[in-house]
Amino acid sequence: MADGSNENDENNKVVLGSAFRNTSIVLYGKTIENIANNSASTAKSDVESAVLNHELGHLFGLVDVGSPMQVDHEDPDSEAHCNVNGCLMTSNIEFGGSIIDMVDNNVPELDDLCINDLVANGGR
Ligand SMILES: [Zn+2]
Ligand SMILES: [Zn+2]
Repeated sequence: MADGSNENDENNKVVLGSAFRNTSIVLYGKTIENIANNSASTAKSDVESAVLNHELGHLFGLVDVGSPMQVDHEDPDSEAHCNVNGCLMTSNIEFGGSIIDMVDNNVPELDDLCINDLVANGGR
């Protein structure tokens, strides 16, 4: 857990986590805490879990960064992210703001397209 926030943070677009070269994951604790504090109904641990699982998804090659897409579902506006609404691998999870809507008492999960990519890549 990194204390503090990503230096690339801007007001509307905060970075909640990063996956580095397939070896490690950094969560930006301060930023996550700020976001959780903005919502009465969202637990910080849920935001953390969502970001952590999202970064794990990148480490497992999602989307199209190691696990080839079985069907095209990459977000045209955000490399390595999924374009399926509500999927764990949408860029919303990583880039602040709307994560609150997605993590309201329920940590987002991978959608079928992302799961299929992992399965095809030998995951389970
Ligand atoms: Zn991401
Ligand atoms: Zn997906």
